[in-house]
Amino acid sequence: MRDEKQALSLQFAELEALRLKVAQLESVGSICKATTQKIRESEERFRQLFENISSGVAVYEVLDNGNDFVFRDFNKSAEKIETIARKDVIGKSVLQLFPGVKEFGLFDVFQRVWRTGQPEHHPVSMYEDERVVGWRENYIFKLPDGDIVAVYDDVTREKQFEEKLKTINKAIEQSPAAVVITDREGNIEYVNPKFTALTGYTLEEVSGKNPRILQSGEMLQDFYQRLWQAILSGKEWRGEFLNRKKNGELYWEDASISPVINEQGRITNFVAVKEDITEKKKLWGQLIDAKEKAEESDRLKSCFLANISHEIRTPMNGILGFSKLLREPLLSGKEKEQYIELIHESGKRMLSIINNLIDISRIETGELSLYPDKTSVNKIIEKIHADFFEQAQEKNLTFSAEAGLSAKESLIVTDKVRLSQVLSHLVGNALKYTREGEVVFGYRKEGEMLEFYVRDTGIGIPDDQQGKIFEHFRQVSLDATREYEGAGLGLSLSKKLVEMLGGTIRVDSIPGKGSSFYFTIPYDSHLVSNPLLKQDMQEDANGMFFSGLPVLVVDDDSISRLLLKGILSNQKVNVILAKNGKEAVEKVQKVPDIRIVLMDMKMPVMNGYEATSRIKEIRPELPVIAQTAFADPEEKAAAKKAGCDVVLAKPINSSELLAEIQRYV
Ligand code: ADP
Repeated sequence: MRDEKQALSLQFAELEALRLKVAQLESVGSICKATTQKIRESEERFRQLFENISSGVAVYEVLDNGNDFVFRDFNKSAEKIETIARKDVIGKSVLQLFPGVKEFGLFDVFQRVWRTGQPEHHPVSMYEDERVVGWRENYIFKLPDGDIVAVYDDVTREKQFEEKLKTINKAIEQSPAAVVITDREGNIEYVNPKFTALTGYTLEEVSGKNPRILQSGEMLQDFYQRLWQAILSGKEWRGEFLNRKKNGELYWEDASISPVINEQGRITNFVAVKEDITEKKKLWGQLIDAKEKAEESDRLKSCFLANISHEIRTPMNGILGFSKLLREPLLSGKEKEQYIELIHESGKRMLSIINNLIDISRIETGELSLYPDKTSVNKIIEKIHADFFEQAQEKNLTFSAEAGLSAKESLIVTDKVRLSQVLSHLVGNALKYTREGEVVFGYRKEGEMLEFYVRDTGIGIPDDQQGKIFEHFRQVSLDATREYEGAGLGLSLSKKLVEMLGGTIRVDSIPGKGSSFYFTIPYDSHLVSNPLLKQDMQEDANGMFFSGLPVLVVDDDSISRLLLKGILSNQKVNVILAKNGKEAVEKVQKVPDIRIVLMDMKMPVMNGYEATSRIKEIRPELPVIAQTAFADPEEKAAAKKAGCDVVLAKPINSSELLAEIQRYV
């Protein structure tokens, strides 16, 4: 290109010299034939070069002392580049035809070259006016006669290509995906910054190496073979790798590898675009787990509904059926007593199901609290033995309780109500699932823990069920004609309570031979002497805690009133009843030794909120336990605002109620 341009400028110079000579010769009138011939040849050569050179060439005559340049010649390439015919250019001013030439900087160059006579290179720049837009590179020189010549090229396409390459390069450099380019043999030629960020390897470290360096050793060789087969046959390959970073950490990537094929159809490179999907995979795994859990819990729920409706219906049938029978006028006293006993048993079963459900839901919402207190483990064992003794005798079972420590050593700090609840449930189950043989329960000290055990010679639990019986609503036999009643709630509640108490629960069982349940709680004997703890509660010979305690029960519903009276009378509480808030306020005024008030909130005449406020005005220290049918947060807040110390949801769970009363006496 440069040579071509130099030749052209020489030709110009030569031509001008010859022209000059001709002029001289003509002026003197001596025409030399040989010289004319030479001139013609030279002129012809110049024309050919001028017209066929691939660069555009424009010759300008300088006018107005270098203030304007007028086209004198314009070759074919220039016509093509500027999309304008020679005839429309010749004689026209450059400023007129190409108004952008000043801004482009070329006009200044023209003036300089004209002034100095020194050729100049005007580098690749963008030319723009209303008609033409494009990238141009110019070489300008001055002819001996003073004309200016511009030899130039349109480099728009090259420039656009370069720009495109720059954009692609930037996109790869800034790509959020890791990019690896290898040669045909798989040796790395390029990796982008994201690759370095992901793997820890820089371009220098991996350049010339095979991506094999990332292999974790966790994928089968067959996997890589299939990958190579696909890409060598010209196809794209997509898949997931478990790879290893420079620091040894494993990570998952989703990769797409494709061959780069040249115009001859040969593979020259491979490009891999990879995304780190370690987090995605983890999340995916968690989602699948959650979905499975949700489905499982859905199945259990349906199963539970089937069970619970059966469980509730059976005692309900008992209650309704026997209470109807009681109306028969000709019943004997013994029959009446029998029916009443059956109604009572059914009621107890219902209450236990409801209590369990309430406890489980409170544990799940984090609302169930423990009330640790001085506890005599031996007394609990004795009481449970006494409670179940009759039942064991009826079934002809040997039933014994074993205390592992002396009465004094058996004093610990724990929530006695919850400990009794768990142990009673296990003993109850053992008796329920044992037809003959024995049921033995007790505890021993194991290091810093007390381990309780309940052994039976009952039906046992199949191996595959032993881990599941501690889940909600889980029963070993789920068919409708089950021999043993139960809702499958007790063990899951027991497990949760034991965990809250700081221990664990497990089972050993041989089907057909019997089961042994074990659970632990911390042996916190050193806390027994803590002066901050209340004195051991008044306990009479039967282990009754609240002997003679005056408690005011306020409820407009007579059945609820009787039920509460029943629960509390069992504990030897001295129950005082009131039918509405007004009566309650009067009772508090009249009976000054009332120690606790159980207040229903919705009542006629005066509701629980107002009654509580008034009671608190009379005796601010008197604890008021509210019971509401819908313990939603707003109602709870309203009850607290009225002065209630605790808010319990109806139906009242007896163990929770007793635990709350115990807290305030
Ligand atoms: P349920 O109220 O149905 O007894 P649990 O949660 O107490 O519920 O027990 C779950 C299941 O575990 C029972 O349905 C029963 O199949 C099995 N199970 C519990 N205790 C025993 C035991 N001592 N012997 C045999 N099976 C038992």
